[in-house]
Parts: sequence; C-alpha cells; structure tokens
Amino acid sequence: MSDRKRKPATLCVQGENSQTSGPAVAPIVQASTFVFENQQQMLDSVQGKTGKDVYTRWSNPTTKNVEEKLNALEGTEDTHVVASGMAAIASAIMGLVKNGERVLSSDSIYGGTFNLFNKILSQICMEIDYVDTDAVADTLEDSGSKYKLCFFETPTNPTLKIIDIKKVADAAQSTGTISLIDSTFGSPINQRPYTLGIDLVMHSATKYLGGHSDIIAGTISGSKELMSEVRSAAKLLGGTMDPFASFLLDRGIKTLEVRVAKHNSNASYLAENLSRDSRVREVHYPGLPSHPQHDIAKKQMYGFGGMMAVTLDTDLAGTSRFVDSLKIFLNAVSLGGVESLASIPALTTHYGIDEKSLNEMGISSSTVRLSVGIEDQEDLLDDLMAGLDVLS
Ligand SMILES: *Cc1c(COP(=O)(O)O)cnc(C)c1O
Repeated sequence: MSDRKRKPATLCVQGENSQTSGPAVAPIVQASTFVFENQQQMLDSVQGKTGKDVYTRWSNPTTKNVEEKLNALEGTEDTHVVASGMAAIASAIMGLVKNGERVLSSDSIYGGTFNLFNKILSQICMEIDYVDTDAVADTLEDSGSKYKLCFFETPTNPTLKIIDIKKVADAAQSTGTISLIDSTFGSPINQRPYTLGIDLVMHSATKYLGGHSDIIAGTISGSKELMSEVRSAAKLLGGTMDPFASFLLDRGIKTLEVRVAKHNSNASYLAENLSRDSRVREVHYPGLPSHPQHDIAKKQMYGFGGMMAVTLDTDLAGTSRFVDSLKIFLNAVSLGGVESLASIPALTTHYGIDEKSLNEMGISSSTVRLSVGIEDQEDLLDDLMAGLDVLS
C-alpha cells in the first residue's frame, strides 16, 4: 500500500489508522476515572509519560478516538474536543490571551461569541476591537504587533459573507498574531483553514460535524505548541466532553463527507431556483456567481455549503406567514443537521435590532435563513414554492 494520504471520505469513516482487531466501532468508555497497578505507574501517567488516561476531564479514550479523526481531517497536529463550541472558543482565548492583551475580531460573528467577548472575556483577560469582515487582513497588517490574537468567522451568519482565509493567515503571520477561525459553516469537508496558514481552527460540532441535531459539542485544532496552552485551559475550565456524546460525534462524522456533498448540491439547486423567482429579492449563497465574494469562495472552498439566506419581497408579517406555512423546513434555530430548518434572524438571533442596523448587516426583517438538509431536492423546492405562494 502506498503512503499516499487518505482522502477526507476515508478519514471520516476510518480515521488515519484502520481497526486491526477487536470491535469495529470504538467503544464508549463511560468512566470518570482510571485504575493503576501501582503508584509509580500513576505518577508517570499524571506526568503524561505513559499516554494512559487518568481522569476524564483531562482525557478519555472515546473522546481521543474522535480527536484523532478530526485532527486528520483538518490536517492539524493536535485536536481537542470539548462540550460545546462556546467552550472551545473560551478555552482557546483564555489559554492564549493574558492580562489586557488585545484581540481583533471581525464584526460578523455568532451572537453567543459576541456576548462571550463583550460580557465575560473583555472583563477578565482581554481588550477587543471589531472591524468589518472586509477589513480584517488590512487592519492586522497596519497594526504592527498590537494584537495577540485575531478571531474571525467565514462564511458568516446569516448572510454568508466570505473572508479571504489565506490573506488573514498571511497578515497574522507577518505580524506575529495568532489567528483563530470559527469554521463551523464550512465544515472540514468544504474548507481546511490550517492548510492555508491559520493557526487554530474551531467548530461548533453541534452543527455539521455531529450532523443529527442530537449533541452539543465543540472542537479546536492547531499546532502542538498552541494546543498545549488551549488544552491546559480547557482542563481547568471544565467544559469536558461526555464520552457518550463523543461516541455520537464519531458516529456522525462517519457520514460527514456524504452528508456535506448532499447539503452542497441541495443548497446550490435551491439557490439557483430561488434566485430566478421574482418573489425573492435576494439570495445570499456563496456558490452563486452573483455573490459579492464568489471568487474568494471558489478559491478557498471545496463546496459552498448548505447554509443560505433569502430576502423575500414582503414585510415581517409576510415572512412569518412564509415560515409558518413550510412543512419540510422546520422552524428552529441551529443548523447543519440532516433536517432542513428555516428561521427569521430578525425574530431570533437578531431579535430587537432596528431595521436600519439590520440593513447595515445586509439583512432585513424579510430575510429568512435556511439550513438546507439532505432531503430530496424537489421536495425541498416544492416546500419553498408553496411557501412563496402564500405571499400573494
Ligand atoms: C452554534 C455556533 C457556535 C456555538 O456553538 P455551541 O456548540 O452552540 O456552543 C459558534 N459559532 C457558530 C458559527 C455557530 O453556529
């Protein structure tokens, strides 16, 4: 057998090293603590010399199994799986940013992350500046070594703006800034930022990685050196992944490649059809040539994903009627699961924000965010078309 690297679809199912004996499926080690033969062995293990697990808040075999798989998929040196996407971000920043050091963040980020930065992290360990999604790389380049860490998200929620990953990675490297990307919308099938020079890649594994809307989980990947700081912080912060959730995550990842391929093709099909419909004012989807950063998306993504936003030619009441009439697209927050979801940002993630500010973010009260699932594409299109019929 050649030593050619395994492709993502193989890594999803079997990881880098296939099972050679024992159970075909990694067992669930539902234990908080591990037993040692004698004190010397215990001491060596506590010091990390044996690779043996000591206590599940530090490491667990079921979680390690899924960490190795994700690490191979991202092309990184080390991956840590924690109890949520939020725990991943908190562990990374609290592990790496200290005593009033500055963080630069793009302004279009997940609402929970925004609140974590403003309400907690900026009170205890960091100063934060926000810049427009288009200005992240230039701001870094002009800042000298002002920033310890740079955080950004691409594609963004909910309007699927695209940031040039390589440009940010280069700017961060040239200024000695640690770069951290929230790659949740892309998944490791559609983009692999570490291979473009980004230092740390995190996911809300609740979304595409888990893929079945049945777990909350987070991952963070990068070099051994940076990850050792992140792991130390995660261990103390205690956002520990439960072994049973790790088992479900591993089970989800086995089908990640086929699921994402279907998410990609279903979403492209819907985006093309919706963009030709006069009742739809705008379709935000990076796979459409009309998308403002389509060329960047084409350069850095292997597929354009299952997320899109559509702005309807109606008001908030009409938009609500549209969502209420859908039968296959379920009305729920979250994303990346096998089932299609529709939600109105103005009434959920962006509730309470006035129309003018919404417009500045590229959304309005008639924007609907769609997480396109893996159902039949004609069924999905029929569902949306029936919803549009309710508007007239
Ligand atoms: C959901 C989400 C998060 C938060 O992850 P949790 O698993 O809910 O803690 C962070 N970033 C993005 C882009 C998300 O969609």
